[in-house]
Amino acid sequence: MFVLFGPGGAGKGTIAARLVESDPRLWLSRSWTTRLRRPGEDEDAYVFVDRPTFEARVAADGFFEWAEFIGNLYGTPVTDPEPGRDVLLEIDLQGARQVRRLRPDATLILLLPPSPEVQEVRLRARGDDEEHIARRLAEGAAEEREGRGIADAVVVNDTVAQATADVASILALRRSRAH
Ligand code: 5GP
Repeated sequence: MFVLFGPGGAGKGTIAARLVESDPRLWLSRSWTTRLRRPGEDEDAYVFVDRPTFEARVAADGFFEWAEFIGNLYGTPVTDPEPGRDVLLEIDLQGARQVRRLRPDATLILLLPPSPEVQEVRLRARGDDEEHIARRLAEGAAEEREGRGIADAVVVNDTVAQATADVASILALRRSRAH
């Protein structure tokens, strides 16, 4: 199991999409969320549900991990990936902490934006509202500090191509050690 985590605006979604495109062994888990879909956001970005539906799945032990992030719930559903494939999770710091506990053998990769300024530009570009941008930036520093404490590797997303290549080489190294 591989986990990409880090502050909003670091580029986790973009890097995760690139990785699964070029690596057929990698299976990207699709999370559930109670957040509303952003204008222009892909319908398949999440399973978009209301709070009661999410809470019912929590009660039924249907999530591997879940967390509340800025007023919305996000969770990784318990599913069986195809045999022989590695699972990739793209989650927040709270989720990464749970994975660290549940799966000590998972590889946790902290993805960071090159600077708070670049992070802000990226958050704005994807259409987050001002309140969410402010809250995500405020939480970014703490997320980075705590994230470094549990991560197996840290990658700075300066350019998508470089960061994707860096993460891919971490995956390759981890896999070579597992055999
Ligand atoms: P966003 O609203 O920007 O799509 O996601 C907000 C945060 O929730 C991001 O840090 C994202 O990685 C995280 N997230 C997405 N899916 C999950 C999940 O299944 N579990 C957890 N813990 N966090 C998630």
